[in-house]
Amino acid sequence: HGEIRQRHRRAIDEATAEITFGAWIDGETRSASTGETFRTTDPVIDETIAEVPRCTSEDIETAVDAAQSSFKGEWSDLGVTERSALLNEWADELSAHRDTLGLLESLDTGKPLEYAKEEIDGAVAFLSYYADIARSHGGKQIPVDGDSLVYTQREPYGVCGQITPWNFPLYLLSWKVGPALATGNTVVIKPAELTPLTALYAAQLSEGILPDGVLNVVPGYGEEAGAPLTEHEDVRKLAFTGEDLTGETIMKAAAANITPVTLELGGKSPMIVFPDADVETAAEAAADGIFYNTGQACDAASRILLHEDIKEEFTEAFLDHAADYTVGDPLEEGTMMGPLAHQGQYEKVTDYIELGTEEGATVLTGGSAPDDPDLEDGWFIEPTIFDDVSNDMRIAQEEIFGPVECLLTFSDYDEAIEMANDIEYGLAGYVITENASLAHQAASDIEAGLIAVNKYPGDDLGVPFGGYKRSGIGRECAEETLDHYTQTKTVNMRLDEPEL
Ligand code: NAD
Repeated sequence: HGEIRQRHRRAIDEATAEITFGAWIDGETRSASTGETFRTTDPVIDETIAEVPRCTSEDIETAVDAAQSSFKGEWSDLGVTERSALLNEWADELSAHRDTLGLLESLDTGKPLEYAKEEIDGAVAFLSYYADIARSHGGKQIPVDGDSLVYTQREPYGVCGQITPWNFPLYLLSWKVGPALATGNTVVIKPAELTPLTALYAAQLSEGILPDGVLNVVPGYGEEAGAPLTEHEDVRKLAFTGEDLTGETIMKAAAANITPVTLELGGKSPMIVFPDADVETAAEAAADGIFYNTGQACDAASRILLHEDIKEEFTEAFLDHAADYTVGDPLEEGTMMGPLAHQGQYEKVTDYIELGTEEGATVLTGGSAPDDPDLEDGWFIEPTIFDDVSNDMRIAQEEIFGPVECLLTFSDYDEAIEMANDIEYGLAGYVITENASLAHQAASDIEAGLIAVNKYPGDDLGVPFGGYKRSGIGRECAEETLDHYTQTKTVNMRLDEPEL
């Protein structure tokens, strides 16, 4: 396995050679005010990629001040078309650095290089999408009795505080920064401490395009840098993606200043496979639904509810797909699944696998690290499938955030829907059937913000993404996201008879 180590060391040198990973505040690269740093590591070889400033409340203070000044100054003076053009220009710049950004993302998260590059493309597409749709986002005129002209306009909040997780770093940044800037706000964003590199580099690539202070990226730990951002009284809008318990803390902090929040939280999304399903379609969607990104996706299809008549046939096809899901070095072509993104996640997932066995579920495949000496230094885990799971087990109720699937069985429609909804989350629901009426009925009965039929979808531009219940508040990726980043001002004007 010396070969993988060498390959990664070379890639780390190549990706980081030209870049100083500082905080990006008021249009320049800075160290943390304390001078301290933390390291971010490559989960394949468990070695340092870069040292990054460990920012604290003092840096947040500086960044919010910068964002506040640019909001009151240069950024607000620009027209919507000019802002949109600058955002598009930044997106183009990111696209021109796709290879470096993709490599950094792959090294920092452990995701296959090709997928990482596709995510950079996705981030670019979302930034452009928001730049484009914001130009036609406005208020309306409202008919009232009497001689009055009543209309509304949508105004930006001001400084937006944003906090992102480690599973899709630059991609989820684009979901937040795009709509905020396009609607005229300014941003202070704290990327996840485990994967901050692409956010920092992307911010540097805005130099000379976005005016100073419009976009500020402040790396650091949740409690040291995230919390002061959520508590800052000049931050007028908060958006967060991450765990539901962190979401709770952030909502409490937001309450102190009556700051509106958008929350994209966890999930434990059911996939219901009805007896008439096309088995191949089901098995493919199930495999992508739990093994893509090593299961570290909030909308993972992590509970499969199988009708008893199709269970055997499905399980056989699903095992074949699991066996075909190539685990390996993310830098090698053809790898479909890299390691978990960090040691803590590896420990969490292996603890859940142990718990599942204790709870009485049966491991059908996987359950441990791959038997491959080349991979033993990384946080790899095999695609894992549990059978004999009941919905009250902890492995069926809690978000594992790894490549671990739970198979459950039902015998009629009502039982399937009851099981699907018997969960505190409500991010996504998947329905596999050839019967369109049944698909519509199930789509309407499942309590979740996103239903997919006969597939595990990617995210499309303009398609709302967000959860019911403990999975969050608000929708990203869509036109309505612009409403989350603007507030309504009503103008009510008396109209007098004109003197002619
Ligand atoms: P996390 O909640 O641990 O951390 C997310 C971010 O919050 C990090 O930047 C962290 O530093 C910061 N943070 C932690 N404590 C904080 C505090 N007290 N105040 C302010 N900020 C704080 O989540 P994670 O482990 O990075 O991400 C995994 C979670 O994200 C999973 O639950 C997953 O389902 C969820 N997720 C949801 C979506 C979605 O769109 N719904 C998308 C991706 C991930």
